[in-house]
Amino acid sequence: MLEYIIIIVVVAVLLLGAGGTMLLRPRGMHGIRRGRAKELDLTGSMPKAGDDTSAGTITLPPPAPPEQRRPEPEAPPKPTLEKPPPSAGRMVRLRARLARSQSGFGNALLSLLSRDRLDDDTWDEIEEVLITADVGVTPARQITADLRTRVKVEGTRTPEEVRAMLRSELLTQVETESSRSLRTQRHEGRPAVLLVVGVNGTGKTTTCGKLARSLVGDGQTVVLGAADTFRAAAADQLQTWGERVGAKVVRSDKEGADPASVAFDAVSAGIEQEADVVLVDTAGRLHTKNDLMDELGKVKRVIEKRTAVDEVLLVLDATTGQNGLRQARVFAEVVDVTGIVLTKLDGTAKGGIVIAVQRELGVPVKLVGLGEGPDDLAPFDAPTFVDAIIG
Ligand code: GDP
Repeated sequence: MLEYIIIIVVVAVLLLGAGGTMLLRPRGMHGIRRGRAKELDLTGSMPKAGDDTSAGTITLPPPAPPEQRRPEPEAPPKPTLEKPPPSAGRMVRLRARLARSQSGFGNALLSLLSRDRLDDDTWDEIEEVLITADVGVTPARQITADLRTRVKVEGTRTPEEVRAMLRSELLTQVETESSRSLRTQRHEGRPAVLLVVGVNGTGKTTTCGKLARSLVGDGQTVVLGAADTFRAAAADQLQTWGERVGAKVVRSDKEGADPASVAFDAVSAGIEQEADVVLVDTAGRLHTKNDLMDELGKVKRVIEKRTAVDEVLLVLDATTGQNGLRQARVFAEVVDVTGIVLTKLDGTAKGGIVIAVQRELGVPVKLVGLGEGPDDLAPFDAPTFVDAIIG
C-alpha cells in the first residue's frame, strides 16, 4: 500500500513539473523568433562563426516596466498663428535702420554744400558722391546742376538753408507721378493677383512672405502660390511664412513642376476661398531673355484664364547696384512691371538706386525691404526716405 502511495506521489510530482514548465513558458514563443529575425534583418549582419544561432538559446530581456516604455509619438504641435502688425507707419518705424545705412551719403553732401567756397572742384565732388550712392550719372549731373543754380539764386547759406535745399532737391528726384499704392482689393468678385518676379537671391520669396504677413496684418486674406518650382526650398520657405499667419500655400510636390500650373491652382484656390489677394512667387532664372519671357509670359497667360493680374512686382536687391539695374531692365522688357520692391536697403549706403531705378524703368518703388525680420518690409514713402538720408 505504501508502495502504491509512493508511486502515485512520484507520478504526480513529475506531471506537475512538466505542466509547470509549460505554464512558465512564455506564450508568444513564435513572436520571440520573429523578433530576433527582425533584429537580424535590420542590422543586416550575418551570423559569425562561433555565434550561437539556435533559437532555443535566445534569452529574452525582461519586459520593460510600464513607466519605461517608449511613449506614443505626439502629433507635431500646431503652429501658433501670429498677429502681424498693420503696414501703416512701418517706414517711419524702420527709419533708424535706413538712416544708419544712408547717412554717410547724406552727411557727405551736407558738408560739401556747407563749405565757404563752392568752387568747381566742390561741385565735382558733390556729383561724385551722388554717383557713388548709385543715383546714376545723368540724375547725379542734374541734381548737381539744380543745386548750383539754387545756391546762385538764394545766395547766403545757413546750415538750415542748405539742409532744406538738399531735401527739396532729393524729394523732387525721388517723387513720381505714379501711385505707389498696391492694388490689393478684390474686384469683380475675384481676388487681386500679384505676381512677384526677379532674379534669384534678390529676396523674392522672403518678400512674398513678408507681404503676406503685412496684408494679413491689414485684415486681408491671402493665398500664396509657390510657382518657383525649381528651388524646392522656396516652396518650404513660403509654406513656413504662410503657416505663421494662416495663409494657404498652394505648391506642387514635384520639384521642377510647371510653374504656370501652380500659379493657376493658386489663383483658382484664391477664387474658391474668396480670398482678398493671391501672391504668386516665381522662379528668377535668367539663362536667356527668351527663357524668361517664355516662362513668365506663360505664367501670366495661364493666370489670366481665370482672372486679371493686378500687379507685377519686380524685386531688386539694392546692394547689387548697376548690375541689379541691368537685370531689372531685362525683366521690364519681358513683363509689364507695375512696381518695384527694393530689398536690403538696410545693408547698403547706396540708396540712390531708388532714384536710378525709377528713372530707368519708369515704375515707382512701392515697397522697401529693411531687414531680415518678418515685419521689415515697408510701403515706400519718399519724405521719410529723404529725411533718413539727410538726418
Ligand atoms: P529669392 O531667391 O529671391 O527668393 O531670395 P530669398 O527670399 O530666399 O532671400 C535671399 C536672402 O536675402 C535671404 O537670406 C533673406 O533673408 C535676405 N533678405 C531678403 N530681403 C532682405 C532685406 O530687406 N534685408 C536684408 N538684410 N536681407 C534680406
